[in-house]
Amino acid sequence: MPTKTKKTSRRSGAGRRHSKAVSVLLQKLATAHRILEMEGHGDMTLGHVSVRDPEGRGFWCKRKALGMGEIISEADFTLQDLDGRKLAGDGDCHNEWPIHSEILRIRPDLNSVGHSHPFYGCVFSATSEVIRPVALEGGYFWPGVPHDKSTAELVNTKELGAGLATAMGKSFAVFMKNHGVTFCGTSIEHCMMMGIFLERACRAQLLIASTGYRWEYPTDAEMKARAPQTFHSAMINRSWEFYCRKLRWLESLSDIGAEGTYRIV
Ligand SMILES: [Zn+2]
Repeated sequence: MPTKTKKTSRRSGAGRRHSKAVSVLLQKLATAHRILEMEGHGDMTLGHVSVRDPEGRGFWCKRKALGMGEIISEADFTLQDLDGRKLAGDGDCHNEWPIHSEILRIRPDLNSVGHSHPFYGCVFSATSEVIRPVALEGGYFWPGVPHDKSTAELVNTKELGAGLATAMGKSFAVFMKNHGVTFCGTSIEHCMMMGIFLERACRAQLLIASTGYRWEYPTDAEMKARAPQTFHSAMINRSWEFYCRKLRWLESLSDIGAEGTYRIV
């Protein structure tokens, strides 16, 4: 009978002392990474989510060379200022850090930014289509999600990051041409849910488009009536709690839970 091991970091920075506020945020951010892996955002060691530093120094982001599902502790994050200088944390920063700095710079309403390569989101990023409310989750992005068609390169300079942030505008997500998605929120919970909803919305629309059926989506008037019923902060919080329970269940199935989580399909 395998023995369950306690979830403690096997990496060198474990046990470092951050302020209580930073510690709480980084534990939540680690959980969000593993949930995103579970929900289809994992792509080997690629993909990263950040949170604005509560002490105003910049942003904390998953460090390079670990998968989203392998993020388990405060030691798995680096702190950078908005010009990309590393201020704290072990390991290297992701090359696409300007995605985070430039969105956080021009969107003071946001506190968390994610970038990943989920399968359906990547396929949808090759189109110029508007994401529609095929089902409920597409409606959470109504009236749509912009496409940044300005580059297919990695967003590894401040100029490219600024271009992406401008393309996103006031939205909570943006498609990156033949590459992936960026999604954001006022909190880690909100950001993570936008990532999950976006992937589900892309999957639904690609599926219905491939059937050849006649299909429709709600009118703007119908969406105006439905949006406040279905998308609000209580729903975000309940969804976050649900996914935390689902993650605990998945990680309880195997001793891999001590080291993270991997998506099986
Ligand atoms: Zn990327």
